[in-house]
Amino acid sequence: MLLDVQDLRVDLAGNTQALAGVSFRVVKGRILGLVGEHKAGKSLTASAILGLLQPPARVVGGRALFEGQDLLRMSDADLTRVRGARIGFVVQSGHTTLDPNTRVGAQLVRAQSVHRPIVPAEAAWRAETIMSSMGIPEPRLRAEAWPHELTPATVQRVVLALALINEPQLLIADEPTAGLDITTQVQILDLLYMELRRRRIGGVLITRDLGVVAQYCDDVGVVYAGQVVEQGPVTQVFARPAHPFTRAMLATMQERLAIAGDRNFGGALPPAAQGCPYQPRCGEATERCAVAPPLVGAGVHAARCHFARFGAA
Ligand code: SF4
Repeated sequence: MLLDVQDLRVDLAGNTQALAGVSFRVVKGRILGLVGEHKAGKSLTASAILGLLQPPARVVGGRALFEGQDLLRMSDADLTRVRGARIGFVVQSGHTTLDPNTRVGAQLVRAQSVHRPIVPAEAAWRAETIMSSMGIPEPRLRAEAWPHELTPATVQRVVLALALINEPQLLIADEPTAGLDITTQVQILDLLYMELRRRRIGGVLITRDLGVVAQYCDDVGVVYAGQVVEQGPVTQVFARPAHPFTRAMLATMQERLAIAGDRNFGGALPPAAQGCPYQPRCGEATERCAVAPPLVGAGVHAARCHFARFGAA
C-alpha cells in the first residue's frame, strides 16, 4: 500500500470539526480521485497529509501511512524531506507555487538541490529535459524566463515539472486545472495522466468533477461533510453507486442539475448527534438515519449509509 489514510480528523477554530474521520487508500501505480462539493474537505485532507494546514486548523486524530511511515507524526524536518521528493504535489493556483523572483530554470534546479547533492550542470540538464517532456517548447529559452512571462498553461506545466522532477512515488494534485480554459484543462489532465502512468506513480487527483474521475482515475473516494462516504474502483462505483449522495452527483453529471437541498455544514460539521450528515438532503432518510452510519462494504466497494445498495444501479 502506497498511502493508507485512516480516520483522519481535523478541527478548525473553536474545535469545530472539519474532517470527521477520512479514510482511503492509494495503491502503487493507481490513481484515486477524491471528488465532492466545494468545502467538503478534499483540499483540507491533502493539506493535512502534507503537513500544510494553516492554523487554527489542526490534526486531532488518525494516521496517514506513506510506505508504512505516519506522515502525521513526522518531524517537520523529516516531512520536508518527503514532501517535494517522495511525494510531489500540485496545488490549485499554480502561479502561487512559483517564486516570482526566480527564473523558471533556477527554480527547477533548486527543487532538486534541496533534496540531494547534485552537480549544477546535471540539475540544469534535468530541468530542461523535464520541461521538454511537459510539452514546453524551447525549454532552454523558457528556463531563463520569469514566471510572469509565462502563459497560465505553461505555468501549470512548470508546476507539474516541479512536482515530478525528483521522481516521487506519489503525486497529490489538488484541482490542478482550476481557473484554466477548457482546452488547457484537458491538455494538463492528459499530461498528468500520461506522466503518472509512464512513471508508475500513484496519484491522488482532487476534483469536483465526476467526469474527470471517470476519465482519469482507477479508484474513487466520494467526500461529503468531512468523510469519505463511498469508495471503490471507478467502474464499480459508477455502475452501482451505493450511497444516495453519489447517485445524486452522478445524476447532476448526466442532467446538469443542482443537488437538492442546502449543505448544512458550511465548512464545519453538524454535531454528531444529528446522525448521518447527508440526512437533511437525502430523499431516502428514515428514523434510523438519526444515528451516524458506519462504513459498510461489499469487497473493495464500501459506503457510509444504513441502506447502501451494492447490487442495484
Ligand atoms: S444513512 Fe440515511 S440519510 Fe444517510 S445517506 Fe443513507 S439513507 Fe440517506
